[in-house]
Amino acid sequence: MNINFCTQCGKPLTYKTIGDEGEQKYCECCNKFYFDNPASCVLIAIINENNQVLLLKQNYISTKNYTLCSGYLKKGDTLEETGQRVISCEYVQSYYFAPKNLIMTGFIAYVKASEFGSSNEVDGLMWVDLDKAVTMVERENNYSGVHLDNCIEILKRTL
Ligand SMILES: [Zn+2]
Repeated sequence: MNINFCTQCGKPLTYKTIGDEGEQKYCECCNKFYFDNPASCVLIAIINENNQVLLLKQNYISTKNYTLCSGYLKKGDTLEETGQRVISCEYVQSYYFAPKNLIMTGFIAYVKASEFGSSNEVDGLMWVDLDKAVTMVERENNYSGVHLDNCIEILKRTL
């Protein structure tokens, strides 16, 4: 979130240097610093027992390509939107998505495929073989492709 006015007194923010953090937004009236903290979200390659990855179609992202499961973490959220129960989960790496000031935490999750849950934000869910998935996944303005590639490297090492 980009904050330009103090949330307490409403005055425009200025800049002030604070230690190692450098120049940060500041309200002189309330003596309060503001940080443009990135939002956080998860990006998950969900892999089933047949070595297939779960791809999503979300028409607001792309009408042509698919993405991995991802989502903002908001107050009160749960992580079970696809209806899959995770057997084990491994942290892979994080990605900083500058256009949206977003820190994406990338995981690989192993599941036994079960019936899909329903979500209003999803226009399609499907299991896809990994070699086919790399050609279907969105790579423009999206970290799905990079994360899938990283996860496939991990899967190769553990096979
Ligand atoms: Zn203020």
